[in-house]
Amino acid sequence: MPDLAIVNGSLLPLEEARVPALDRGFLFGDSVYEVIRTREGVPFLMERHFERLQASAGRIGISLPFDLQGMAGEIRRGLDGAGYGDAYIRIIVSRGYGPPNIDFRMVEEGPSWVLMFRELHVPGPEAYREGIAAAVPQVKRNDREALDPAIKSGNYLNNILALKEAVERGAQEAILLNREGHVTEATTANIFIVERGRYLTPPLGEGILSGITRALILERAPGDGLEAAEETIPLDRLLSADEVFLTSTTRDVLPITSVDGKPVGTGRPGPATQKLMERFQAWAEEIHQREKQAW
Ligand code: PMP
Repeated sequence: MPDLAIVNGSLLPLEEARVPALDRGFLFGDSVYEVIRTREGVPFLMERHFERLQASAGRIGISLPFDLQGMAGEIRRGLDGAGYGDAYIRIIVSRGYGPPNIDFRMVEEGPSWVLMFRELHVPGPEAYREGIAAAVPQVKRNDREALDPAIKSGNYLNNILALKEAVERGAQEAILLNREGHVTEATTANIFIVERGRYLTPPLGEGILSGITRALILERAPGDGLEAAEETIPLDRLLSADEVFLTSTTRDVLPITSVDGKPVGTGRPGPATQKLMERFQAWAEEIHQREKQAW
C-alpha cells in the first residue's frame, strides 16, 4: 500500500514529496503540526486535532489555509488513495516560502502545507505487556515563557536532545522536568503517575502540550469511578510513584516500568494502569462508533 502526501493540494507518493529549501518550516522550524490516527480507516478525534492546530497556528501568527471541512476533505482524499486499514496522518503548516531571513514579514508565499499518510505503526504487544524504560535527562523542557510547549510547533530540538540523552542511557523515552524540577511530559507523550489508586498528571501550567489522549482520560475517568486529577509532580514523587505511564495519539496508554534504571513499583505494569488501558480502549471504541457514523 502506498504512502502518500498532499503538498499544497497536489497528491503524490510520500517519497516524492518535496518542499523548497527556502520554506521557513525547513529553515527555522517556523511551522505547526498535528498527528492524527485512524481507527478502521476513520480519523480519530479529528475535530480536536484541528482545534489544537488552529490554536498552535494562532499562537505563532499563522492563519490556517483550510477550515475543518477543507482539512477533512483532504484527509479523505489521502485515505482513499492510500487504502490501508489504519493510517498515521501528519499535517504540517509552515509560514511559507521566503528569503533565509528570520524576519517573518518577508514571507513571499504561504502558508504552505503538507499532509502525510503512512501506515499506522503502534508499539508491539510486548511494550504494553512489559512496559518501557524511561530516563530523566539533564536537559529541561522548554520554558513556557521562551518557547511554550503548548504550541505544537515543528521545532522539536528540545525533545530530540532529551531523547538523545535517554537513549544514551539505555532508555526508550525521556521524562522531562521544568526549571522548577517538576515533571512536565515525555518527548512526544504526556505523563501520568498513579498514587494510591489516583491517576495524576501535571497541570498545563507546568509547561506541556495539552495532549488529546490526556484530556480524554481526565474527562472520562470520573464517569467510570476512577479518580484522575492534575497535580504538580516533583521528581521525588515520580520516583516513588506506584505506577507510571505515558499517553499519546499513537500509543494510547503505555506503561513505564523503570525510571533511570530503577523499577517503578513492582517493575511490572500495575493494576491501575492495566485498568485504564482497558477503559481507554472502551472509550475509544465508543467515540469511534459515533465518528464512523458521521464520517
Ligand atoms: N506532548 C508532546 C510534546 C507531544 O508531541 C505529544 C504528541 N502529540 C503529546 C504530548 C501527546 O499528545 P496527544 O495525546 O494529543 O497525541
